[in-house]
Amino acid sequence: MKIIMLGAPGAGKGTQAKRIAAKYSIPHISTGDIFRANIKNNTELGQKAKTYMDKGELVPDELVVDLIMDRFKEADCANGYVLDGFPRTIPQAEALDKALTANKEAVDFAINVEVPDENIINRMSGRRACVGCGATYHIEFNPSKSEGICDVCGEKLILRDDDKPETVKNRLSVYHEQTQPLIEYYSKKNVLKEVDGTKDMEEVFSSIVDVLGK
Ligand code: ADP
Ligand code: ADP
Ligand code: ZN
Repeated sequence: MKIIMLGAPGAGKGTQAKRIAAKYSIPHISTGDIFRANIKNNTELGQKAKTYMDKGELVPDELVVDLIMDRFKEADCANGYVLDGFPRTIPQAEALDKALTANKEAVDFAINVEVPDENIINRMSGRRACVGCGATYHIEFNPSKSEGICDVCGEKLILRDDDKPETVKNRLSVYHEQTQPLIEYYSKKNVLKEVDGTKDMEEVFSSIVDVLGK
């Protein structure tokens, strides 16, 4: 099963993608997580990506497409995957389609997690990310057991630099300009499924399971 998560930054794509990955035994592939791991390890890719991420801009398509094509070669992708944060532009979607078509494959579901802009700033300013394992929390909606400490690995939780309100505003306008057109793109391919992302995490997941099947 090949699934794409669509939605604004902070809509809950990562939260739901992790649950989908666990339930359907497919890998969760987050381009944002891959970039952050590269920044942490100070790789060349990380250094390039950071300049864009800090401003709330998108990393250039070539960099992202090369990275994801390499990721697909790994053995765990044999039965599909759930993509979180890719594609984010029409050229990225076209590159994905081209690669899949060459193998007589296709995207099965593009799940759009709908959350209005008004809710996004709140979601983002409350998001906390683990510096160790990348787990995410929310200070109000999904708090860690002990404040500021990751439940999974015990490392420190931080507010991502790009989750500060100034940068979030820019990320939202970038989203509307460059990523939102993907909704129509996948609608035309008859794989688009919309879910109401304003509900609580459990409810959002159960509407996704209704779409994907038990
Ligand atoms: P969020 O979870 O808030 O949607 P991500 O962690 O997916 O954010 O992405 C963080 C940043 O990484 C983006 O703002 C962008 O700079 C970069 N990035 C991630 N995925 C892509 C992509 N597919 N294309 C271009 N830039 C990307
Ligand atoms: P995305 O990957 O789309 O950027 P995340 O999954 O990281 O979004 O979620 C953004 C923030 O909102 C996180 O702090 C997360 O814990 C919280 N969150 C996710 N889904 C919900 C929900 N349905 N209700 C309330 N908060 C949520
Ligand atoms: Zn952790």
